[in-house]
Amino acid sequence: MRDFYLMVDCNNFYASCERVFNPGLAGKPVVVLSNNDGCVIARSNEAKAMGVVMGEPAYKREAFFRQNGVHVFSSNYALYGDMSARVMRILSNFSGEMEVYSIDECFLLLRGLNTPSLLQTALEVRRTVREWTGIPVCVGIARTKTLAKIANRLAKKDGDGVRLLENEEDIDRVLQGMETGDIWGIGRKGARRLCACGVHTALDLKRQDDDWVRRHLTVTGLRTVLELRQIPCIALEDAPPPARSLVCSRSFGTRIESLASLEEAVSAYVQRAGEKLRRKGLVAGAVQVFLETNRFQPEPQYAGSRCRALPAPTASTLDLHGPALEILRDIHKPGYKYQKAGVILLDLSPATGRQLSFLEPHGEEKAKRDALMRVMDRINTAHGRGTLTLAASGLGKKEWHMRQERRSPLYTTSWAELPVVH
Ligand SMILES: [Mg+2]
Repeated sequence: MRDFYLMVDCNNFYASCERVFNPGLAGKPVVVLSNNDGCVIARSNEAKAMGVVMGEPAYKREAFFRQNGVHVFSSNYALYGDMSARVMRILSNFSGEMEVYSIDECFLLLRGLNTPSLLQTALEVRRTVREWTGIPVCVGIARTKTLAKIANRLAKKDGDGVRLLENEEDIDRVLQGMETGDIWGIGRKGARRLCACGVHTALDLKRQDDDWVRRHLTVTGLRTVLELRQIPCIALEDAPPPARSLVCSRSFGTRIESLASLEEAVSAYVQRAGEKLRRKGLVAGAVQVFLETNRFQPEPQYAGSRCRALPAPTASTLDLHGPALEILRDIHKPGYKYQKAGVILLDLSPATGRQLSFLEPHGEEKAKRDALMRVMDRINTAHGRGTLTLAASGLGKKEWHMRQERRSPLYTTSWAELPVVH
């Protein structure tokens, strides 16, 4: 009995989220588009089978979608983020040792189970997530994370959505049919370099000499190769290092000129960035704002950006807001049509256990400000983003809003958009 990694991955995650609230879409082709309804970023199996490709510009496929009854959605990140949190919460019941790897993928470490109970647990994971959220997932199981990733891909093709890679001959057979570029952590560039040296399949790579691998792929590549040999080298990140910066930026739905509209947009981005910052338990030491025109338009171009250090590290939207708008007014030049603006929070550090400054609010004043942010976050989580905002982000129709003509309702995060069952 050894330790095993389960890689749990939601099938066609965004398309599956849309289906949960729209069961009539079962068995029908579904695609989800990127911000501003630009490109295809998710496809149901039916859409894949019809030859819809990832990253394809949506406008090129309009007619095809219409003729073939493809259901098209604008991306609804509030919904996907919330569904993801629900899935992850369920998964955390299966192991205290987990790593959320992306919005729809998670590693779980299971210790001391024999093969039958491992498989049984994996099936249980699948059934529970499906029953409690409506999202289908597949589970790959192996002694290393790299092999668990591969097992997951096989699970997508197998009948019951669970695949264990443990037997050495079985592993070799699978690796023989795999290109090196499909191994987690090798990538296209690494694969090209390996190909030039005559190493084509994942099995070729697994059988290379350690020194050779270190020379060609560095020590990181060697860890991957050892993982292919069932030697665990990549542990769960129990405490991933905090990100260095946090970005909130969007292209506008239309190009805008007026400073007032830009102020509304930047104000909204600051609030969103502040929310993210607090959710991660971080404070920012500096704020940057940028602004740019559309360089693909035959018209005068301008891009401005400036960064400012804050008097004291903060996670309060109130402290971030003023400096951000001041920067915007500094860098804004009239007479240009702007396509994009953004706010970047820099110099991030954990909110607790850092050195305090004389300049930051403390005592009762600080407690009041923290409480205000907590209330704002709670209300906006419960009633939908933007329920409570600073007046500066505008109360009327938002000219700068991105295009989301086909977004599904915020089924799980907005009271006004709850699904109605007849
Ligand atoms: Mg997935």
